[in-house]
Amino acid sequence: MTQISYRVPMRQLLTFQLEGLADELVELQSLDDAIHWTAIHPPDSYVMLGRGSNSLIRFPRDGLRVVRLTPNSIPIHREGNLVQLPAGGTMKKMQDVLIEMGLSGLEFGAGVPASVGGMVAMNFGCWGECMADRVTRIQLVQGGKVEWVPASDAHFGYRASRFHTTQEMVVSVELRLTPSDPLDIRQQVQGAIQRRLASQPLRAKTFGSIFKNPSGYFAAQLIEQAGLKGQRWGDIEVSGQHANFLVNHGVATYQETMAVIDHVRAVVKDVHGVELEMEVKQL
Ligand SMILES: Cc1cc2nc3c(=O)[nH]c(=O)nc-3n(C[C@H](O)[C@H](O)[C@H](O)COP(=O)(O)OP(=O)(O)OC[C@H]3O[C@@H](n4cnc5c(N)ncnc54)[C@H](O)[C@@H]3O)c2cc1C
Repeated sequence: MTQISYRVPMRQLLTFQLEGLADELVELQSLDDAIHWTAIHPPDSYVMLGRGSNSLIRFPRDGLRVVRLTPNSIPIHREGNLVQLPAGGTMKKMQDVLIEMGLSGLEFGAGVPASVGGMVAMNFGCWGECMADRVTRIQLVQGGKVEWVPASDAHFGYRASRFHTTQEMVVSVELRLTPSDPLDIRQQVQGAIQRRLASQPLRAKTFGSIFKNPSGYFAAQLIEQAGLKGQRWGDIEVSGQHANFLVNHGVATYQETMAVIDHVRAVVKDVHGVELEMEVKQL
């Protein structure tokens, strides 16, 4: 049954832990909940969130209502090398499930505090791999109707999909994975986590890359060469470990965070003449 909580701190909803309260947090616990919810609530009446690891919520604002799917809202289902995962499922839990099933292919996401739905909407990727390589079809809910669409209709691009513009709710995802020895998969998962720990502030309050890599450049390199790596304004720091990450060391408001992002963008434009495009979503 749909669960609604009131006055929920955004610290609990966003990995960057912005200050502020969501008036309502709506947690959809089943496919039926998603169908009923979307039948009576237009998408512009709420903010759709996964695990909030790529999102900032515009704040302050009146009547902020956040909707997310609980991890077990849709059952996991396997047929051969195809597996259906719930959009609300966390990467951590999904890695455990896939290791147990002996299915390889999603290890590149290991260690990231994301949900499957958010990873599909963002076409999450790294190290030359992305979700679009694995997704075969997507189950959507919109206006109280449910349908499966093939991956070829998802308009996947660089950190992009149709779901940002259509405001459809991704409820589950079918992936084609490769059978493999669970011990090997576990090793791959641990290797991926180590690789991330070595290069990203994985344990800090952060939201992942601030900017997309402009064609022919790495955003982190541009920011570092502009002298901004490790700089701090109040509690917000351009990570000294990875210059395309912001870290919240204490209290950060939406306005303060956007001021830092705008500053970084302006300095990079000044120094390199390159326009950076935000990867993090402002919801
Ligand atoms: C330490 C760290 C490392 C990271 N490394 C990477 C990386 O290597 N590569 C990479 O691509 N990203 C990376 N990220 C960013 C982030 O994890 C990804 O963008 C991820 O896909 C976001 O998932 P989420 O569930 O947290 O989405 P959220 O931040 O909750 O949402 C992101 C967007 O997806 C939409 N959305 C979420 N769920 C749904 C749904 N069910 N239906 C429709 N729309 C939905 C939201 O409305 C929003 O627009 C990293 C983040 C952190 C904190």
